[in-house]
Amino acid sequence: MSTRWIYSFDALDAATEKCGGDWDEVRGLLGGKGANLADMSRLDVAVPPGFTITSEACNAYLDVGERLPDGLVAEIESALRDVEAETGKTLGDPVNPLLVSCRSGAKFSMPGMMDTVLNIGLNDEVTDGMASIFGDRHFALDSYRRLIQMFSTVVMGIPEAPFEDALLAARVARDVTSDSDLTESDLEPIVERFKKIFRNHTGRDFPSDPMEQLTMAVAAVFRSWNGKRAFAYRKASGIPNDLGTAVNVQTMVFGNLGSDSATGVAVSRSATTGAPAIEGDFLMNAQGEDVVAGIRQTNTIDDLRVEMPELFDELEQAAKMLERHYRDMQDIEFTIENGKLWLLQTRDGKRTAQSAVRIAVDLVSDGILTKDEALERVTPEQVEFFLHPQFSAPAKDSAVDDGRLLTKGLNVSPGAAVGIAVFDADLAEKWSSERDEALILVRPETKPDDVHGMLASAGVLTSSGGRTSHAALVARQFGKPAVVGAKEIVLDLEARTMTVGAATINEGDWISIDGTTGEVFVGEIETKLPDIEDAWLMSLLAWADDVRDLDVWTNADYPADAERALKFGANGIGLCRTEHMFFATDRLPIMQRMIMANHDSDRNEALEELLPLQRSDFAGLFRAMDNKRVIIRLLDPPLHEFLPNVDDLVRNATDLKIRLMNAGDLAEVNRLVREIEETETILSKVEALHESNPMLGLRGVRLGILIPELPEMQVRALFEATAMVLDEGGTPKPGIMVPLISHAAELTPIKEIVDRVALEVLGERSDEVDWQFGTMIETPRAAVTAAEIAGVAEFFSFGTNDLTQMTFGISRDDAEKAFLLGYLELGILAANPFNTLDRDGVGALVRSAVEAGRATRPNIHVGICGEHGGDPRSIALCDEMGLDYVSCSPLRVPVARLAAAQAVLNRPGRPDPDAGLHMDPAKGVVADAG
Ligand code: PEP
Ligand code: MG
Repeated sequence: MSTRWIYSFDALDAATEKCGGDWDEVRGLLGGKGANLADMSRLDVAVPPGFTITSEACNAYLDVGERLPDGLVAEIESALRDVEAETGKTLGDPVNPLLVSCRSGAKFSMPGMMDTVLNIGLNDEVTDGMASIFGDRHFALDSYRRLIQMFSTVVMGIPEAPFEDALLAARVARDVTSDSDLTESDLEPIVERFKKIFRNHTGRDFPSDPMEQLTMAVAAVFRSWNGKRAFAYRKASGIPNDLGTAVNVQTMVFGNLGSDSATGVAVSRSATTGAPAIEGDFLMNAQGEDVVAGIRQTNTIDDLRVEMPELFDELEQAAKMLERHYRDMQDIEFTIENGKLWLLQTRDGKRTAQSAVRIAVDLVSDGILTKDEALERVTPEQVEFFLHPQFSAPAKDSAVDDGRLLTKGLNVSPGAAVGIAVFDADLAEKWSSERDEALILVRPETKPDDVHGMLASAGVLTSSGGRTSHAALVARQFGKPAVVGAKEIVLDLEARTMTVGAATINEGDWISIDGTTGEVFVGEIETKLPDIEDAWLMSLLAWADDVRDLDVWTNADYPADAERALKFGANGIGLCRTEHMFFATDRLPIMQRMIMANHDSDRNEALEELLPLQRSDFAGLFRAMDNKRVIIRLLDPPLHEFLPNVDDLVRNATDLKIRLMNAGDLAEVNRLVREIEETETILSKVEALHESNPMLGLRGVRLGILIPELPEMQVRALFEATAMVLDEGGTPKPGIMVPLISHAAELTPIKEIVDRVALEVLGERSDEVDWQFGTMIETPRAAVTAAEIAGVAEFFSFGTNDLTQMTFGISRDDAEKAFLLGYLELGILAANPFNTLDRDGVGALVRSAVEAGRATRPNIHVGICGEHGGDPRSIALCDEMGLDYVSCSPLRVPVARLAAAQAVLNRPGRPDPDAGLHMDPAKGVVADAG
């Protein structure tokens, strides 16, 4: 039996039968576009009639040295007769002409890589006929010149240049810039000129026989499978070279045939909000390009409801049906030709984050998707969009148009913030209590003693620092939009200005920052608030909770953060960085006294003052997270971070000395002498605490071992808070976490303090309270010796910020500034390891530490509290490594809930929902039963 080369759009059953019911093979035979057009045709919608020449025909053509296989031309002729019968038009008939397009369509989409020829069927007579039928000679001539041009370049390989030159000359002569402004009288000679170019290059006349045009075009599309562009594209995307392309020959329809014709685009649900109503634009009496090109003012689809109610209904029904069929919101191109609706294309539509969430959830209610599928339809980034104010798109576009985009830095904490620029933290705090305007704190970089200024501001901008710099970390923690490392900014703290090139912003001027993109703007840009209580998002996240195995906790230092995180679905606090509590303006001086103390009694006095403050901090967290684990980390940063900066102290001492020289009376002299002494004492202490590598210095557990009174105070405050909340009827579940250990022996003295103080404070109740003692694993040695550490620690929390820093040996504060971004550009690293957990290095350490920890203590609880705990790809790795929980900043909690569910859905070995689709003669493409 001879091979069948052609399947008309309504012969899907035959193609399916040939492919044994395998939809994948149907797509191989007819190409993706052909299979879809055939699939659409079987549905109750009007697709312009046509047929598909199989990819087998393409391979046969290429195999025998570019000769159309036997029987193909006869099949094309017969398929054309069917199309003519269906449309009532005839190829080459000037009175009632059929025009067709000829487009490639391979199994895998290769957009723009292969060839297309439109308007096949035109010659001199047919063009005249079209001009009178359509009453538009300009249109007929323009279509004709396009056919000659496309045919010449695509089919005959003639260069574009002579055609473009001819068009350019005509535009210059008429003094217009666009081809569409050329008139009928310009186009007549252009058509003749194009035919001449054809003749000069090929030695023959442009083929006026439409059938010859068609067969030559088909052969050209076949050849384009082996074109340079297509070849390179396949190589890059791993598409096999032996698939070949199918060719689709389809009737051309026209929306510009008068007042009963139109053309447009429509989506089956709102792409902005997801509301289940058709939306779109159309133009009466126009061609498809006119809608897209934006040359003419389009009408909304609601006008179509008024102008052509029946056709509107038909379009709406078709959109609904296609949506159900393809199981997603559809973006449809349509044309109405003389009162008849044709659908030219349908595909899954693009949408905003808000729309994506609502559509996914609504499609479940409509019985179209399963909940698991809905969870896979929304990206974690789209969830993140819900949680931060955004610039309104038109306002931002116009700011860019007005040249107000100042510079770009790293987009470390998403959301938009608008405020007046303020250049130091104290002033930020002062202005926030005195003035009504929002603030943006702008600093070269931030340090822990800038935190009060960050809290007082709507957003943070720094000129240096990387993704895990202090500013980035704290900003994410507090949900403050932040841009860091905006290198072009020069901050002059004396002159109180920031400059970028020629632009100067004074302190107090308005700026806007976009932490989602890293952009910094001059002036105010309008923002809009996202709807956190969005019912659709809530449903989606509840489904995610049913699927995920990872628990999602939060990093929170204050009750307000804990409450917010709880609202977002956090099930505990994985990290409370207690150092932040000491930076409040009423506490810092006490902390400084504690650090500066020369005698135990002075130190203990300061610690006693801190204890009640710390106790109420912890009680607040226990109340906010009642009956959930709250892990309090003992003090971590190097002490000098709590002390003033050396340069400031030196400047201060010098100022005081100058004032002393000019002092007027003895009282002033005495006061200044005292102040100078105090400043110099602090200075000598700060200098004594100076370390070349403070991140590798006296910090973390080392502090607690050197100054045991410090952890003792913190632990006492923690258990006293536990007792308080117990007495109130609450159920506190504290965890005490030791930072930065590298040896199991470091835990022993701290554990002794904890056990002793627990007994002292709680007495017999110590056994009733569910409290735990555990440690951060954030140095490579701790990870490697996890088996021993688990002998003491009841939980591990992987501090992957420090662990990444120490495993790679790159500074988390400086790496991006120095070389890391270059490494990413060069492809030395595939992803920034401070963003996405490095699977092979840091990940391997985590994996082996989890295994070793569990070998020693099978029920050890393991989680991650570094910034990676909020990164979807890292969350997938945590799921794979069998961690118990991830802990992330409050605003990332919803993102982590979805990402943790997706991690489960994407586990290897889980059935692919698209695998095993088959073609059901009655229903179209459906999943295999069972
Ligand atoms: C870490 O190192 O990952 C961590 C959570 O601790 P910090 O960022 O406070 O050093
Ligand atoms: Mg750390």
